[in-house]
Amino acid sequence: MSYISKKLILWHKTHGRHQLPWQNTKNPYAIWVSEIMLQQTQVSTVIGYYQKFITRFPDINRLAIADIDEVNELWSGLGYYNRARNLHAAAKIISKNYKGIFPDQYEKILELPGIGRTTAGAICAFSFGQHYPILDGNVKRVFARFFGIKEWTGLPLVEKELWKIAEKNLPMTSIQVYTQALMDLGATLCVRSKPRCGECPLKNSCKSFLNQWTSIIPAPKVRKKIPVKEGHILIVQYAEQILFVKRDLRKIWGGLWSLPELEKKDDLDQWLLKFLKIKKSRTMNEGIYNATFSHYKYVMHYQHILIDNINIKIPENHQWLAKTEIQQAGVPTPIKKLLVSL
Ligand code: SF4
Repeated sequence: MSYISKKLILWHKTHGRHQLPWQNTKNPYAIWVSEIMLQQTQVSTVIGYYQKFITRFPDINRLAIADIDEVNELWSGLGYYNRARNLHAAAKIISKNYKGIFPDQYEKILELPGIGRTTAGAICAFSFGQHYPILDGNVKRVFARFFGIKEWTGLPLVEKELWKIAEKNLPMTSIQVYTQALMDLGATLCVRSKPRCGECPLKNSCKSFLNQWTSIIPAPKVRKKIPVKEGHILIVQYAEQILFVKRDLRKIWGGLWSLPELEKKDDLDQWLLKFLKIKKSRTMNEGIYNATFSHYKYVMHYQHILIDNINIKIPENHQWLAKTEIQQAGVPTPIKKLLVSL
């Protein structure tokens, strides 16, 4: 057993996390849902979402037959909605191709939408006791610091090296404990800023601790200036209801309910005529709302208009939502925030 695995397994008994809602089970469905939610989100945020999701969809078949709108609603606020779409799509595949039983072969798991090497490795380790490595952001940080790797861990060559390290350090036994310990160390002690090296079971051999490199490892990514996208959106209101349109699946926020968009501001009259068959509306307000994502900034130029006639026939893929329903609906968070800000 390697130094890392021996130390971590021992440490986990007394210092690891043991009571998270997705622990103490070997159910691959529950583990899969938690791993997907945890991909981009902190444990403290995930707990509530996970419990609601599992209560509503307690097994794969129940998720597979669900309406995607309901899945999106339960995901609303977690962000990165392609995770919810992939979960739903993968549940359908498991239901159809594997009779609703989660496959127990790493390669088959890896073929499912939204599952990469780390998620497949965690499912195999926690559910089936199989020996596969994981390498999420936290684990990369632990290995980079321990071995003193000073390059940015997102570089393909560095990543390849880290996967090798992850494989080499797998223990022959106690794979579940080891995998959880690695996750816990990265999340609780070897955190990005001010790691608690004094309490760390790896400190006696950790290059970053011994050389005082923890503030320079992991190296930050050289950031490019993020692009700015602009859009013209419409807040169409009748009484206390707002008009929403379902987003194209191939676009950002695909499958969610968002606000109608115009090519340009002056297209409003044309849009009213084309989609609502009316000529007139009253403008309540106009403005700009900025939303910043990891890859770009979205500048929304909005027009808030009021219409007087509810009897108009709205086109397919559109629906009215009462203002009180919006926060619970499958609506992108920036749009919810914009509507709250008005
Ligand atoms: S000693 Fe510090 S830097 Fe090294 S693995 Fe432990 S917490 Fe991370």
